[in-house]
Amino acid sequence: MQNSIGVLLIRPLSTYLQEELSKRYTLFKFWQVPPDIRREFLEKHSNSIKAVVPNGVQGADSELIDALPRLEIVASHSSGLDKIDLEKCREKGIRVTYTPDALTDEVADMALLLTMATMRRICEADRYVRSGAWKNADFRLTSKFSGKAVGIVGLGRIGSAIAKRVSAFGCTIGYHSCSQKPNSTFKYYPSVIDLASNSEILVIACALTHETHHIINRDVINALGRNGIIVNIARGCHIDEAELISALVEGRLGGAGLDVLEHEPYVPDQLLGLDNVVLSPHVGASTFETRQAMADLVVANLEAHFANKPLLNPVV
Ligand code: NAP
Repeated sequence: MQNSIGVLLIRPLSTYLQEELSKRYTLFKFWQVPPDIRREFLEKHSNSIKAVVPNGVQGADSELIDALPRLEIVASHSSGLDKIDLEKCREKGIRVTYTPDALTDEVADMALLLTMATMRRICEADRYVRSGAWKNADFRLTSKFSGKAVGIVGLGRIGSAIAKRVSAFGCTIGYHSCSQKPNSTFKYYPSVIDLASNSEILVIACALTHETHHIINRDVINALGRNGIIVNIARGCHIDEAELISALVEGRLGGAGLDVLEHEPYVPDQLLGLDNVVLSPHVGASTFETRQAMADLVVANLEAHFANKPLLNPVV
């Protein structure tokens, strides 16, 4: 028991994580603090808070880090690190951990789910049945997924898990990553445009960095073509969303399955009106099982840090 150690949890995440943290530390629930008094709150508890637990949506920026002079560790409940000021952490000697692997299968499952839901128009079909329209006419024909050419942007943990699943559907697989994988039998494309030109479905699974911001732009969308499908389970900012929407509206792109959006949770009205788009609210890793595994990793990293043991998932 190390109740003198304060842990700042940025978002609720799971009841399980809150309980596990409360058993070990003094837990501060940041989302319960009204935004206009957060500065005073941080000042008041700055001597106690030694750990911050952010996630992939709300991280630890330089302002938060600077407000906590006793901060020792940022233990992120995410595999994406784009919302954490890693440079600032390095500068200040603050350790950073994350939860890769724990969520890989779940997010890969979500990619397949969104791909097939978009191609088979399952949300539209559901609305069709519920509206009673089925009594008057058969539902429209949709597109087959099995056997298609799938391009994966980012053949990392999640990208590889997507490839494994997609292989079972008899699809051909190409990928673009920072570098070619020497042990992969999939075709490597050094350029995203070439990958898109040779794919029918493009799945975004890379990390968000300065280089991958808007990696999916007008040229990539046009290269994928009017029957192409884009699926994004990584980060909204990978796609130039205005270009995506205009391509969908103008029929230059066949459809999109999006778990993440550029300005989430704000959704452009035009997307809401499109039947060839399937949307989910950044829930790629949001199941009881995966959230528990992620919570266990966060707690294990914190325990290791405060016991002066090696971190399980060190980033910094
Ligand atoms: P990972 O194992 O670190 O893989 C990241 C991949 O991004 C690697 O293949 C890497 O290429 C590639 N990449 C990085 N910079 C690139 C660039 N400039 N051009 C092309 N590819 C680049 O991470 P992961 O666990 O698979 O997670 C991937 C991302 O998924 C996370 O960063 C996060 O943003 C997102 N995610 C979303 C959810 C959700 O709920 N929707 C949940 C978890 C994660 P190399 O292999 O060549 O280095």
